Amino acid sequence: MLQVRQLVKHFGGIHAVDGVSFEVAAGECVALIGPNGAGKSTCFACIAGQYPLTGGHIAWNGQALEKLSPAARLRHGVARTFQVAQVFEALTVLQNVQLAMQAGIAQKAISAFKRLDGQSREAAQALLEETGLLALAHDDALSLPYGAKKRLELAMALAARPRLLLLDEPAAGLAEAERASLMRLVKQLAGQGMAVLYTEHNMDAVAGVADRVLVLIEGRLAAEGSFKEISRDAEVRRLYLGE
Ligand code: ADP
Ligand code: MG
Repeated sequence: MLQVRQLVKHFGGIHAVDGVSFEVAAGECVALIGPNGAGKSTCFACIAGQYPLTGGHIAWNGQALEKLSPAARLRHGVARTFQVAQVFEALTVLQNVQLAMQAGIAQKAISAFKRLDGQSREAAQALLEETGLLALAHDDALSLPYGAKKRLELAMALAARPRLLLLDEPAAGLAEAERASLMRLVKQLAGQGMAVLYTEHNMDAVAGVADRVLVLIEGRLAAEGSFKEISRDAEVRRLYLGE
């Protein structure tokens, strides 16, 4: 399981994350919600290794993560996606996933790309099928519509066969039907035993999807519980339920 203890991240005088503790168990789907600037993406960057911590501890299955590089964390099964999808626009959809698979193993993306071949192709196609992208396999990533790009980034994160998946606004900007289908996939991944932590603004992607919800406000956890439980919180009602 993921254990976050008293996580603190300051940027100069900005207290982006200010003493946050929570856990996510294998097979659990947990939503991290909160207004813009609450510190959600910063939490992800601290867990996945893009930012060094100002203070606190992060452990995954008992292994302390805070001193490991993002690549080392990936080898321990920790993968993330970004709020703004990061894919290789010069490659096709299939090549992006093949590259992510190779990189997960070799950690050397450039030399690995030279060895893109049939070996990873079948596995990459299976992942594209799972994420609903197979029909777009040979399209350039550059030409993808927004929703497909978000799916591709998810497929690339899955290519590393993560045990802990961090999804930063996976459904942001998607139309309702597309959002529902993506969230079904996210839920399914947790059902397969992955620990899933995702951020979200739309309560349709939280209610009925998240087993548990963490509410982050100004760098601190303001509420935690099932969607029903956090819906009783006055601040949550004001922020999300228009009261
Ligand atoms: P959220 O994802 O919840 O919208 P962020 O984690 O992106 O919030 O940001 C939390 C706070 O930290 C904001 O005030 C933001 O401006 C600040 N912040 C985030 N990243 C940086 C950075 N690299 N340098 C300086 N300030 C940052
Ligand atoms: Mg964010």
